[in-house]
Amino acid sequence: MAVDFRTNKKIMRAFPKVELHRHLEGTFALPTLHRIALANKLPYSSDFEEFKKAVQFPRDSEPDFLTFLSKFKNDWYRSHQDVHDIVRDSVLDFVSDGIFFIELRFSPEHFALHNNFDRMEIANIVMDASNQAAEDAGVLIRYLITFNRAKQDQYEMINLYHALRDLKRPEIVGIDLAGDETQFPPQQFTEFFKVVRDDGVYGTTIHAGEVTPAHQVWDSINLLHAQRIGHGTSAIDDAELQQRLIDEGVVLEQCITSNYQTGSWADEKNHPLGRLFRSGVPVTINSDDPTIQDTDLTDDYMKACDYFDLTLDDLVALNMVAIEGAFLPDTEKTDLKNRYNAAIAAFRKKHRI
Ligand SMILES: [Zn+2]
Repeated sequence: MAVDFRTNKKIMRAFPKVELHRHLEGTFALPTLHRIALANKLPYSSDFEEFKKAVQFPRDSEPDFLTFLSKFKNDWYRSHQDVHDIVRDSVLDFVSDGIFFIELRFSPEHFALHNNFDRMEIANIVMDASNQAAEDAGVLIRYLITFNRAKQDQYEMINLYHALRDLKRPEIVGIDLAGDETQFPPQQFTEFFKVVRDDGVYGTTIHAGEVTPAHQVWDSINLLHAQRIGHGTSAIDDAELQQRLIDEGVVLEQCITSNYQTGSWADEKNHPLGRLFRSGVPVTINSDDPTIQDTDLTDDYMKACDYFDLTLDDLVALNMVAIEGAFLPDTEKTDLKNRYNAAIAAFRKKHRI
């Protein structure tokens, strides 16, 4: 009897995946982090299982936003070598999730803050380590730089933005706005995103509509020129917004497990992703912070198949939406689509699906 790959994690791992929404700060190689924590004499158990409990949000725990947020720590790294090592090993792990292409997002601030490292030097170290690991793992990679609403005002963001531009790293393809969307609405960042748009070099994705109503997705598109939206689950309540997303190809980067664990969407089996997909809204499957969530992207694919009865063709279609929404020039998108189709053909042949 043919294996139903949708319930077979080993085969689902191998399914080629395009991911647009994953934070490097939330996807780290646990054994490497444990080694760094002990070497730097941080107050963690030398027992790996105990360490895991301390740094992850256990997958069977009740949703709790504050506990979830408390897991994001930035005091692990005490040297450039620490940053290099954690990034390298974390990106090497992507291959076990079947990552074909990823736009990985990170905040230079996160890796630099505790030691007051130079932000741009850290950005270079992160990308150099990650590029090498991605090449070794056979994963295509680009970067989004995350700006945190709560940590900088928009004028500080503009300064950081200009410093990033001066790095002249073409693998940076987009800007992400993250952090507390309730207290820091899009209206507070219009000047920054006007600079980004006028510059025309980077794509823009905004975390919105995760814990706020649909109007914040509207505001992110109208005021901040968002080309993609992080989460956007509240779009399910607004048919007019859905039509706008369809008409303009604004892609929703959705994250089923993350939304459940943070308490932003209580009923995982009724997550909007399935209904939005059936309505033709450009949606994609993403992991967000898989290590903190004690999960991986493959789990989210299996949930999507189980909850929304998706087929292999549906999964391929979702990944094509992700490629279309990637912040790449059209020629690179066409090339990526061709390579992705070839990878899918090889996957089908190997697993006889
Ligand atoms: Zn996110």
